[in-house]
Amino acid sequence: MQLSHTLLRLKKRLESQVGKAIADYQMIADGDTVLVCVSGGKDSYTLLSVLMALRERAPVKFRLVAMNLDQKQPGFPAEVLPDYLTKMGVEHRIVEQDTYTVVKSKIPEGKTTCSLCSRLRRGIIYRIAKEVGATKIALGHHRDDIVHTLFLNLFFAGQLKAMPPKLVTDDGSHVVIRPLAYCSESDIARFARGMAYPIIPCNLCGSQGNLQRQKIREMMADWDQRYPGRTEVVFSALQKIVPSHLADQSLFDFKGLRPGHPLSAMDGGDSVFDPPALGQTWSQPGALALQVVKG
Ligand code: SF4
Repeated sequence: MQLSHTLLRLKKRLESQVGKAIADYQMIADGDTVLVCVSGGKDSYTLLSVLMALRERAPVKFRLVAMNLDQKQPGFPAEVLPDYLTKMGVEHRIVEQDTYTVVKSKIPEGKTTCSLCSRLRRGIIYRIAKEVGATKIALGHHRDDIVHTLFLNLFFAGQLKAMPPKLVTDDGSHVVIRPLAYCSESDIARFARGMAYPIIPCNLCGSQGNLQRQKIREMMADWDQRYPGRTEVVFSALQKIVPSHLADQSLFDFKGLRPGHPLSAMDGGDSVFDPPALGQTWSQPGALALQVVKG
């Protein structure tokens, strides 16, 4: 496939962001087998394609195994992914398991089925990871997903936590990586359109999905429209945590604070006596410092 100039630039950007995330979090090491979960959505197609491109020139050798789970949802086009993955020449496993019927029989009509569905899917992915000898499981979540999860937890669960680029599963047996952590959803969507991936719709099960997540998506879309770059800024905040300026006693020894503690000189100290100037926007971090010096 001949790529346009614009699409090539976009491909390079995605590859460089994925390469940086992999390096920053040491996501892939020499000899790894990476199980890439491909659902048929834009994110997982992009993830697979970028990882395949990076494998060609990576300084380390790793094996990629793509996996699709056919959950037997009505109307699922079962031939699309096997055809695509074969054409791409990537090692793959197609797993057929009817979680759709299980979920429908267990969850009363009208209730959301996503949490049981995801739990079942997770168990199957872990089993396949063991079977293929995977040392890493790669998921297609991107920067927007991570930021949305942060707000979901903040607003609805009362927790300051997002979706990490790398984690060990609850049972301790698998390392999950999110190589698209630095990539924006809009870049991925444009890339997927340009590549004309055979997208499989994600609403075949008929479930409405997570309504709270939908609300957060709308909120961020609105913010991004009025103040462009908000998702990026919030994501970068996740990489610059200042425990001394939060309130979690397990992360910072507040009880041990005394006059003369080096906190006064760290992390910008306390700006409580220096309220930000009215009208200052988040995209002008220098404005506050300037205001303080002038005042
Ligand atoms: S939207 Fe459907 S397929 Fe997706 S997690 Fe929910 S129940 Fe499962």
